[in-house]
Amino acid sequence: MTAHIIDGKAIAADLRARVAGEVALVKREHGLTPGLAVVLVGNDPASEVYVRSKHRETQAAGMASFDHKLSADVAQGDLLALIARLNNDPAVHGVLVQLPLPKSLHTETIINAIDPAKDVDGLHPSNAGRLAGGFAALAPCTPLGCIILTKSVHTSLEGMNAIVIGRSNLVGRPLLQLLLNENATVTIAHSRSRDLPKLCAQADLVYAAVGRAEMVRGDWIKPGATVVDVGINRLPAAGGKTRLVGDVAFAEVLRVAGAITPVPGGVGQMTVACLLVNTLRAACAIAGLPKPEV
Ligand code: NAP
Repeated sequence: MTAHIIDGKAIAADLRARVAGEVALVKREHGLTPGLAVVLVGNDPASEVYVRSKHRETQAAGMASFDHKLSADVAQGDLLALIARLNNDPAVHGVLVQLPLPKSLHTETIINAIDPAKDVDGLHPSNAGRLAGGFAALAPCTPLGCIILTKSVHTSLEGMNAIVIGRSNLVGRPLLQLLLNENATVTIAHSRSRDLPKLCAQADLVYAAVGRAEMVRGDWIKPGATVVDVGINRLPAAGGKTRLVGDVAFAEVLRVAGAITPVPGGVGQMTVACLLVNTLRAACAIAGLPKPEV
């Protein structure tokens, strides 16, 4: 028996369609068009690809998309002034500054300048704190996607043992909080953790968010566990090309796990779809409307 391969592409497409349906509803019934502003600083090729796909998907969902491209040598004061304008713009409900920023800019200062009500990346300390306290918050998109993918297999995560490998503010830490909110029992591991294989062997749910190609091996996994691979690593391939692999040794784990997300076609697909969800939620909250049904 091999594991069920969780189809992130199909689940993300379904989520985008449901967001588009809700957007049409708030437009029709309340005259509200959710708007997302994305700020890209510099010319990082991977960031340019992400920003293009955010723009395309935002428009496809019926939302307004505002792109701001600034040169890599922009003064921090100018970027902060743009964020202040977006914070005050009633057509903008989500403000996202694409990371990583050039080294000349202080990332923490920039994130802290975003209005927490429009912080659709969920990185502002106010949202991180609210999430940690178990209060309503805009949560980061990739961990939100991980939870949706897991729930495509398990309707309830209550009482399940989960391990999150990685403790970044972007993925590992918010994923820990979201899993706690689902009443899972959570272990969080990192580069100083001891005996990762032993820690993983206890887990019904394994989340790998490390950035190390194929680190999680088949013999670490409890038979039947659900494995969600967040990692995106580019390895050299034949003919001078490259190929994408996750943090999980897919072929090995496929033979042991109950369910697994592929790379590509797993978590990556969910991140932009969840950005649309967060923008819709932010727009409804700012307009004083009930939380949308997605
Ligand atoms: P990050 O900020 O570099 O964090 C990596 C985490 O992994 C850190 O907590 C680090 O521990 C831990 N770690 C490093 N080596 C380890 C080891 N040998 N054993 C156990 N833990 C180890 O990375 P990130 O932003 O969270 O991203 C993680 C991966 O997810 C990357 O491949 C990234 O490209 C991918 N990603 C994908 C998406 C998506 O949409 N699919 C979105 C975001 C990120 P310390 O804290 O001790 O240093």
